[in-house]
Formats: sequence, C-alpha cells, structure tokens
Amino acid sequence: MKILAIETSCDETGAAVVEKDEKGLIKVLSNVIATSSSLHAKTGGIIPESAAREQIKFMIPVIVAALIESKNKAKLSSGNKFKYAKHILTSIDAIAVTHGPGLIGSLLVGVETAKTLSFALNKPIIPVHHLLAHLYANFIGEISNFKFQISNIQFPFIGLIVSGGHTDLLYFKSHSNFKWLGGTRDDAAGEALDKIGRILGLPYPSGPEIEKRANKIQGSTLKFQSPLINSEDFDFSFSGLKTEVARFIQEERDRLSPEIGVTDLGNICYAVQEAIFDVLIKKTIRAAKLYKTWTILLGGGVSANQTLRKSFEQSIINNKLSMQIFSPEKKFATDNAAMIGAYALLNYKPVNWEKIKAQPDLYFD
Ligand code: AMP
Ligand code: MG
Repeated sequence: MKILAIETSCDETGAAVVEKDEKGLIKVLSNVIATSSSLHAKTGGIIPESAAREQIKFMIPVIVAALIESKNKAKLSSGNKFKYAKHILTSIDAIAVTHGPGLIGSLLVGVETAKTLSFALNKPIIPVHHLLAHLYANFIGEISNFKFQISNIQFPFIGLIVSGGHTDLLYFKSHSNFKWLGGTRDDAAGEALDKIGRILGLPYPSGPEIEKRANKIQGSTLKFQSPLINSEDFDFSFSGLKTEVARFIQEERDRLSPEIGVTDLGNICYAVQEAIFDVLIKKTIRAAKLYKTWTILLGGGVSANQTLRKSFEQSIINNKLSMQIFSPEKKFATDNAAMIGAYALLNYKPVNWEKIKAQPDLYFD
C-alpha cells in the first residue's frame, strides 16, 4: 500500500509518499518540506496569517515534488513534471492528511487540498492526528535507537511528545488503545526554548541554537529550577522558567555589563536545557515504571536534541533499568509528512472526505 501524505499544521508544508512493504516495514519513498520559518525568524515567532499564505504558495509544488521524487525523477523539466506527477497520482492507494491540532489557516490548506484529491481521484482519505503522528515517526524504516540496535517497537510503550506547541505524555497499549497521562499546563517545551532564546537574542527557532551553545561547555555552575519536578502528577509547566531566566539576565546586566558574554550564554543555555530535560526525563521514566512498560518513544522537534536523548539514556543506566528508548531520525523529528503517512499506514481508517474538517484544537480522545 502506498500513501500520499500531507502535513500543513504550522509553518511547514510537507508532502511524502510512504509505503508499507510485504514485511510490514514503513518505507519513505519521498519526503518534501517547504518552510516559511525564515519569514517568522524576522518577527521572532509565527504569525498565523503569514504561515497560512505561505502554505497556499507551497502546497501544490511540494506535492508535485514528493510524487516525482518518489520515482527518483526529480530532474524532469517543469512541463513534464506536472504530467508525470499526475501519472504517479494514479498509482497512489490513499491520501493521508493532518486534520489537527494546529493553526486553522494552515490546516485548512492541507485538509482542503487532500479532500479535493480524494474527491477528484476517488481515493480513500485518512485524517491523521498530528501529535500521535510525531510518535509514529519512530516506526519509519529500520529503527535504530541511540544505544541498542532494536528491530521492533513493542507495545505497551510510553510516548513523550515534545514539540513547538505541545508537551504530552501518553501510555499506549496498542495502536488504537492509548491513554493521555499528562501534559503542559502552559508553554510547551519547544515554545519555552524558543521564548527563552528570544530573551537571549538567539535566532528563531531557538531550540537548536540553545543546543549548539550548551554543547560548547562541559557543565554549568548555574542552576534554574526544574518546574514541577517533584509533583506526583504527569504535568509540566515551563512558563515560569522563562520568567526566571529573564530575571536572572536582568540582574546580571545590572551587575556586570549590558552584553551577555559567550561563556555566560553557554552556561545559561546549558542550565535551561537541564531544567527542562530533567523534569521530562524524570516523569517519563516514572510513567514507564508505573505502567510497567520497558519501551519509551520520543517525538516532536525537541526530540531532535542530542543532549535530551543522551540524558534519557544516562538516566536509564543510572537507575539500572532495562528500558529501550526510541527517538526519530532528526529529519523526522520536526514537522514532516512522512510521519503522517506512517501513522495512516499503521492505523488505516479511511473516512468519507465530506466528513473531514480542520480541527485546530483536536485533542486526544
Ligand atoms: P515541531 O513543532 O515538532 O516542528 O518542533 C519545533 C520545535 O522544536 C521548536 O520549538 C524548536 O525550537 C524545537 N527544536 C528543533 N530542533 C531542536 C533541537 N535540536 N533541540 C531542542 N529543540 C529543538
Ligand atoms: Mg509538530
């Protein structure tokens, strides 16, 4: 089965052709992403109206590119491209599309495009929950975790979604049977990194920039409070950390100089990561122990962070646990359409195209 998957929940326009082979292995034949993030870098954050307009601009070219690349024919001339893309469309078995959560204007572009394709081509269509799909990025291809070589993800597992807009912890018994355990009460982990980055004068998105600066030093004498680290629930809260960092910088500037030095910046970035990652790791491992699962799946843009992955691994070793941690290949950690296709292939539930709606506040049922 071969699926054309479409993702437009935020500022990335993604299309991918994804296939499940005879052995049940999920293969990505193409995965094309256009992003309007450079536009948002100028304003230090996403302006939903601009993101939606960019989605409209990119949608068809990205789909055409994904179809052509799925056949390794990226070098065709533009006239032939459309003809060939239409030809490939006929060999696609179904369409999958993100229907939420996300920005309404952005979601509408992908959803309406997918519905039109489903109607015009008479192909089944599968609506996909963007956040669940982040975890399904782990099911793509030959899975390798960062320490042990594992061939298969076993149920049950705990899923930690850490993206720009969401932080959620879930317990999965099977593909269709899962339970939400907790999430952020305010800012998401990625959002906190982006907002703190802005305070530090780093470019948007700041998660990777903070990682780069933190990697330059071995450890930090600085310590920010890890929010809700000792609470009994599975909730998170990161907005207070942003205020703590802002206050710290103001005090330092008053005391020392108006400019934060490079070492100071590295120290702050290191301590910020530590405060966010400590609580993510502690609560995820506690959930895994409570639900007696030995598998943890990470997903979302922040899961691209190598320190987070390594700290998870270290924590498992320190606690003498035999847990397996999976995190997606870097290119499948941030928003992409391949993960949407992977989810649809493993949860193949087509619905009538007329029933699909963009749902910006889509929750976990
Ligand atoms: P997503 O919403 O899943 O597309 O992820 C975007 C978020 O991931 C943004 O908040 C980024 O700052 C964050 N992010 C991306 N790469 C990294 C990284 N290497 N370390 C930490 N955060 C990251
Ligand atoms: Mg996302």
